Amino acid sequence: MAELPDLWTHHPSSVLAFRPGNRVTDIDAGATPGFRGDKADAPALQAERNAVFADLQEMLYANGKTAGDHRSVLLVLQGMDTAGKGGIVGHVVGAANPMGVRYTSFGVPTAEERAHHYLWRIRNALPPAGHIGVFDRSHYEDVLVVRVRNLVAPEVWGARYDEINAFEKELVDAGTTIVKVAMFVSPEEQKQRLAARLERPDKYWKYNPGDLDERKLWPQYQEAYQAVLDKTNTDYAPWHVVPCDRKWYSRLAVTELLIEALRAMDLSWPPADFDVEAERARVEQA
Ligand code: AMP
Ligand code: MG
Repeated sequence: MAELPDLWTHHPSSVLAFRPGNRVTDIDAGATPGFRGDKADAPALQAERNAVFADLQEMLYANGKTAGDHRSVLLVLQGMDTAGKGGIVGHVVGAANPMGVRYTSFGVPTAEERAHHYLWRIRNALPPAGHIGVFDRSHYEDVLVVRVRNLVAPEVWGARYDEINAFEKELVDAGTTIVKVAMFVSPEEQKQRLAARLERPDKYWKYNPGDLDERKLWPQYQEAYQAVLDKTNTDYAPWHVVPCDRKWYSRLAVTELLIEALRAMDLSWPPADFDVEAERARVEQA
């Protein structure tokens, strides 16, 4: 299996790891940490790494399906509007076989969801054995938009960080590898992307007039993201901080994070649970 391509000088899992003391306000969203190539290198490399990822994903699925392996992966994508969450889903996770992917996007809670604890809808969306779960937004909205918009009292959202850590610990102990990705776009790039959505009829569906109201709260969101990183970066479910002004970079980086997570599971193809020779003979005569 291919090692980290040499266009990477540092592995994204180390160079993008959130470290205590790191400040959200210091993030350069236009940077390409650990990568010495440029945009022109991206298409071929992305295709090559998508294939590596897809092979590992199939192996994970095969083990879940036939070998009683209960493990799974959960990719948590958090970021402001236009950060490129959908692009990660399409261009990175999209390389996987859909039968092994459980994708969920979390929007404003429905009446039914509101009637339950905030983790209820999250638990319902967890990946089954052998699957890669993808959270397009997540339980972190309950300490992001909910905090910024004062949707519940401070003591209520304030208690959630510890609760989220305990919840994630439970998932990890049960065999889920959690890959948490905080996606950062600059305000300038966000403005361009919002404007671009209004230029093309095929992009209108991504535009939500309310996004501009969230944009006005940028400093408050930065504070809320800082608190998330400070309080929920654990050794069992660490955060990765991904600069997203260059989509080609963020996609390459998240692909490597997923490959790394799958590799660490030390997967192999499940052995046959039948007599291969005998079955060959039977097929011959069939
Ligand atoms: P999008 O990801 O563009 O489809 O937008 C989903 C919207 O749902 C965003 O504005 C989120 O802030 C909002 N949202 C997600 N989770 C929650 C939540 N728990 N409470 C309130 N709003 C939420
Ligand atoms: Mg949106």
